[in-house]
Amino acid sequence: MLNSEYLQRVYSQVVTRDPDQKEFHQAVLEVLESLDLIVDKHPEYEANGVIESFVEPERVVTFRVPWVDDQGKVQVNRGYRVQFNSAIGPYKGGLRFHPTVNLSILKFLGFEQILKNSLTGLPIGGAKGGSDFDPKGKSDAEVMRFCQSFMTELYRHIGQFTDVPAGDIGVGAREIGYLFGQYRRIRDAHEAGILTGKGLTYGGSLARTEATGYGLCYLTAEMLKCMKNDSFAGKTVVISGSGNVAIFAAEKAMALGAKVVALSDSNGFVHDPNGIQLDVVKDIKLGHRGRIKEYAERVAGSTYTEGFRGIWTIPCDIALPCATQNEIDEDIAKTIVKNGAMAVAEGANMPCRPEAIRVFQEAGLLFAPAKAANAGGVATSALEMCQNSMRYSWTFEEVDAKLKSIMEHIFHNIYDASKDCGVTGDLVVGANIAGFKKVVDAMLAQGIV
Ligand code: GLU
Repeated sequence: MLNSEYLQRVYSQVVTRDPDQKEFHQAVLEVLESLDLIVDKHPEYEANGVIESFVEPERVVTFRVPWVDDQGKVQVNRGYRVQFNSAIGPYKGGLRFHPTVNLSILKFLGFEQILKNSLTGLPIGGAKGGSDFDPKGKSDAEVMRFCQSFMTELYRHIGQFTDVPAGDIGVGAREIGYLFGQYRRIRDAHEAGILTGKGLTYGGSLARTEATGYGLCYLTAEMLKCMKNDSFAGKTVVISGSGNVAIFAAEKAMALGAKVVALSDSNGFVHDPNGIQLDVVKDIKLGHRGRIKEYAERVAGSTYTEGFRGIWTIPCDIALPCATQNEIDEDIAKTIVKNGAMAVAEGANMPCRPEAIRVFQEAGLLFAPAKAANAGGVATSALEMCQNSMRYSWTFEEVDAKLKSIMEHIFHNIYDASKDCGVTGDLVVGANIAGFKKVVDAMLAQGIV
């Protein structure tokens, strides 16, 4: 718990203001626990109310999203944009379309995004948005009508210098295309820099699709090399999820010499002891939005088991949780440790509960937190913005090389920050402190706190 009285006050105000926002409290508390190590050396934080400002979004927009389904019936969803912090650059962060979306989830994601975006070293502030709309099972025409209605309100809150949304769970190339089309229609202007994750024919960046998964492996590889003099070569890897992040993490882990033996979706998981065949997974998931169960029907020697948490009973050297938040609790973490894993790196946002992280760290596993490990996606979004401003595009190799160097730089930055705080190798503290310092210095310099 927190030692600093100032931080205790800030945290209790966060909880009192929004008692139901459990995920947001969890994300804030983790960061405040890290700040506890430095706050006494910075009386200017309390004097300027810096941390009170830091935990309060600059602006939150909620809006009605009415749309007509294929039966001609009007459906009404709720849309949100949490514009959390713009001290170092325009608000930046994805949109999530999933039935579990609410203000607590989006505030936790927006809060994490501030620090993640700061760690990329690029000039982007923090935001998140989305809707409780579920694209699963909807026709393309329904998704299009929903996206058009969503953008009919969102357009007035975004802009290349104001706020630049992108994808997240449930928002991929199809949704970004429909959203962009509606913005262009309303504004009568082709402003490529208002969204990232765009298609390659209208301003998207090469390697953006691969970036989060590839970046996760680049950072993990650097962590293995520098902290254990080791690599992915010959390692067994378990990856939860089977979306964009999981698929391209698997692709890069394999390219670096690892064997990926399992993937999951929200229904269950597949185990292929011979090594997952990625072309089959891509065909199922990217080809026709199928379920991972289909893999076991198509690949001999693999098995499918209902229930997504069971994936963590499969022994592995490296665990890459790439599904969603709070997937790994204390018991699952103990199983992963007992089975002999050496490293865990978070591809999803906050997939490990705080007790699980403690289990990993106490057992001496390497642990890379999401805000560093999955920053490759948003970093490449910032590279997309850069290309849009230049009206130019880099090759795949150019973007990939920049991504790799950004991820390696993030690792060294957070490792050094952990050392400076006297907790060498605690990358949770390192990421929180390194990410925070840049944003807070910018806030203090601008007198906006
Ligand atoms: N949704 C991604 C994330 O969690 C990417 C955001 C973006 O590219 O703006 O970082």
